[in-house]
Amino acid sequence: MPNSRSGFRIVVAGGGFAGGTLALALAKLAPKTCGVTLVDAAPPSAPRGRDGRGLALSPASKNLLAAIGLWPRLEPGAQPMTSIEVTDSPLNAPLRPHLLGFAEDVADGEAHAWLVEAGALLEAIGEAVTATPSIELIAPDSVETFGTDAFGADIRLASGRDLRAALLVAADGKKSRLRDQAGIHCIGWSYDQMGIVATIAHERPHHGRAVQHFLPSGPFAILPLTGNRSSIVWTEDADKAQDLVQDLVNGAPDVFLAALGRRFGHRLGEISLEGPARTFPLSFQMARAFAGERLALVGDAAHVVHPLAGQGLNIGFRDVAALVETVTETARLGLDIGSAAALERYQRWRRFDSAFSGAAMDGMNRLFSNDNAPLRAIRDLGMGLVDRAPGLKRFLVREASGATGDVPRLLKGEAL
Ligand SMILES: Cc1cc2nc3c(=O)[nH]c(=O)nc-3n(C[C@H](O)[C@H](O)[C@H](O)COP(=O)(O)OP(=O)(O)OC[C@H]3O[C@@H](n4cnc5c(N)ncnc54)[C@H](O)[C@@H]3O)c2cc1C
Repeated sequence: MPNSRSGFRIVVAGGGFAGGTLALALAKLAPKTCGVTLVDAAPPSAPRGRDGRGLALSPASKNLLAAIGLWPRLEPGAQPMTSIEVTDSPLNAPLRPHLLGFAEDVADGEAHAWLVEAGALLEAIGEAVTATPSIELIAPDSVETFGTDAFGADIRLASGRDLRAALLVAADGKKSRLRDQAGIHCIGWSYDQMGIVATIAHERPHHGRAVQHFLPSGPFAILPLTGNRSSIVWTEDADKAQDLVQDLVNGAPDVFLAALGRRFGHRLGEISLEGPARTFPLSFQMARAFAGERLALVGDAAHVVHPLAGQGLNIGFRDVAALVETVTETARLGLDIGSAAALERYQRWRRFDSAFSGAAMDGMNRLFSNDNAPLRAIRDLGMGLVDRAPGLKRFLVREASGATGDVPRLLKGEAL
């Protein structure tokens, strides 16, 4: 559908977690005058199971997935996280008392988060996109260049095909080509840390408990998956992480397994690796603007945060929900969905919240990823005080669940 008096086309570049979800939400919830084209560099039938991560999704993100009909499909494989323990005990400590615990801070039948395997989520998004005739899917292909004028964006794909849209959305990940082409710079730095990700099978049940163990080289998280399985995100100095995983690949797993065993502890009995371990370079990155002429940024194209609190995609889903609400309300008024006013509303809504969350994760990583004695004493005192302040704990739980601030309606489980 070209831009005309009767309708607007939205082209979403990137069919990953954020872009795929956005295309589905627009197709299902925005007025029919908004046509949706999704361009993804990966073929639609690409194998998705190899990602290996367990993603902690907040109750707000679950509401978004429910609104677009994905949650019933994901729920059987989603593990509720019902308690969280935070510790910074040394690895050789005989006991690991927790500094901070969140157990009774959620209502019955609720959870702090749901652990969903990344491969399963991508597969569900991909299948739903393919089964939605109102989404024009162009894949494998990618946005090569684009130019804008007062009325729309002209988009050239790598295949040579040309598209015209009222609104172009950059959902093309942390190395976003669209963001760079729009001249939008990022503030950011690399952590010189890697996240080692693996699925661990264990003898005893985890009872929905997650553990965040802050160690001098970075946090080590144990996140419950369905069955007697957990996903780990093991933050380590970049060189050491590469060596550990390379030993595994070379068929010499002893060093990796010994180091893993010391961090994982004995509480869940015997452990074994289920599948390969993968490394992800960790960085902080925040786009200086979340919108340009006829362009909106969502997901990792807009912000990349440290995974220590499992918030990256949850923040990305807040972008998705805010953009769908902005587009829907603008289109219902018969106004231009890609106008500077509409995009300014989206940017104002999302920029401060994302920067605040990113800075909080960055601060926590810096505070905990070291063994400085005075700092350790201060942070342990602070954590102890939080642990004894039920009001503050409830606030932190609400903050992590995506229930604070100016929350888009889809995240509150409300209709648009
Ligand atoms: C170790 C680790 C653990 C994490 N754990 C969690 C967690 O527990 N909870 C959480 O909320 N978040 C977590 N995150 C963050 C989360 O993984 C990211 O926020 C999320 O993957 C970002 O999704 P995205 O769709 O924005 O980008 P991506 O997943 O990078 O998708 C980008 C898409 O764009 C496509 N593409 C690229 N260029 C083009 C182009 N030019 N044209 C068209 N298509 C293009 C690609 O094919 C891809 O499909 C974690 C991150 C890491 C590293």
